[in-house]
Amino acid sequence: MSRLVVVSNRVADLETASQSGGLAVALEAALKENGGLWFGWDGNVVEDDAPLTPRLIEHNAIDIVTVPLTRNEYETYYLGYSNKVLWPSLHYRLGLLDYQSTFLEGYRRVNARMAEQLAKLIGPQDVVWVHDYHLIPLASELRKHGIGVRIGFFLHIPFPPPDVLVAVPDHAWLVETLFAYDLIGFQTSGDVANFQRYVTEQAGGTVGPGGQTSAFGRSIAVRCFPIGIDVDSIYEMAHTPQAEAQIQRLAQRALNRMQIIGVDRLDYTKGLPDRLRAFRRLLELYPGNIKRVTLMQVAPPTREEVAAYAEIRQELEGLSGAINGEFGDFDWTPVRYIHRAVPRDTLAALFRGSKAGLVTPLRDGMNLVAKEYIAAQDAADPGVLILSRFAGAAEDLEEALIVNPYDVDDVANAMQRALNMPFEERAERHQALLKRVRARDVRHWRETFLGALSRTGQCQAA
Ligand code: ADP
Repeated sequence: MSRLVVVSNRVADLETASQSGGLAVALEAALKENGGLWFGWDGNVVEDDAPLTPRLIEHNAIDIVTVPLTRNEYETYYLGYSNKVLWPSLHYRLGLLDYQSTFLEGYRRVNARMAEQLAKLIGPQDVVWVHDYHLIPLASELRKHGIGVRIGFFLHIPFPPPDVLVAVPDHAWLVETLFAYDLIGFQTSGDVANFQRYVTEQAGGTVGPGGQTSAFGRSIAVRCFPIGIDVDSIYEMAHTPQAEAQIQRLAQRALNRMQIIGVDRLDYTKGLPDRLRAFRRLLELYPGNIKRVTLMQVAPPTREEVAAYAEIRQELEGLSGAINGEFGDFDWTPVRYIHRAVPRDTLAALFRGSKAGLVTPLRDGMNLVAKEYIAAQDAADPGVLILSRFAGAAEDLEEALIVNPYDVDDVANAMQRALNMPFEERAERHQALLKRVRARDVRHWRETFLGALSRTGQCQAA
């Protein structure tokens, strides 16, 4: 059996994985199965002349190999090309693209260096799974070191149409490097279509049956694998005695009041200012909600060194302050805004205790919060999911109230509908959504990707 090698920008702390969730939980089972190796950045930034020796630790039969980044690499590869160029562009936000040529150099350099360090650790029976936009050229660099094993890539964020992608400096090189993989996985069929349009329109390639995509003298498998969650673990977290007690406390404090919940990293892709404007609109259009409905927005800080993130924080604080000042009263705060990380079991209890889950990104690869909100609900009294049509999750979660996040009236109307939806309709929608979330859970995602990778054709070295 092949050993699995996972590569991601940050290596998750497997000691705390069960609390933090995310990729660690998703991949740990697969890494344990036949022994595994996880390689990536350890999160440390060191002086430019410091040694970058890989560090090995073992956790439950998994080898975890991490390397630091130098200050220059952190600024060019991580903050620069990854988060000031690729992140905004791949989320269709060209206005926020902030490019310098040193960013691209740093991005190439770090991918080359990581490939050199990783190549020494890869055996002939291994299969390699690379994650996300920080590491697009990793396979092409590994091939230069004679690595011929199967390598798959999964893009966690959206892939935009060619008209948007061509604004990324050196996009042609970037797409060509993707052809060093044997399999590329995207979140949605829309992302796959965008990629294949680029390949046919810009790179003179072709798309064959089953998504086999050819260009640059290579033919690779391309498919969508919508990422999912561990449904039972979220449900259980939302139904512990502590969660019950927390929900009771909320209910007592807010007698006859209803809560709408939003949980997102404080990122400009998440549509938070528009969400607050929509909540204000709800209070204006339907004043019966005044003193009855609270929006709880949990938005922990992220990437604060990037200017666009500091700006969105200010905007959000201004908007929530203005709504609370205008509508709030001695005994009612319309918007409760929490700017920090919250333990996952508390989040699950908050999801369950909220009449509506508001997930309104302007663009999102998938959005796991949408799925977690559904998984946390009590079937005897389920809440309603309001979901942006621009979240990858909307391709599947049809029974949510699908909204246009740019249209504040549309979102306000959906909130009003959710808060007043009869039980039968809520139960019907929830049942259908839960079925979908279960059918495409995290295990299904992992197994279908690795299954497809193991079936890819002849592996090829450089
Ligand atoms: P993204 O990957 O862009 O942040 P997702 O919705 O796909 O968006 O995933 C976010 C994950 O982070 C979810 O599992 C969610 O529960 C978790 N999360 C979001 N906000 C918080 C918070 N304040 N505290 C702890 N976990 C959070």
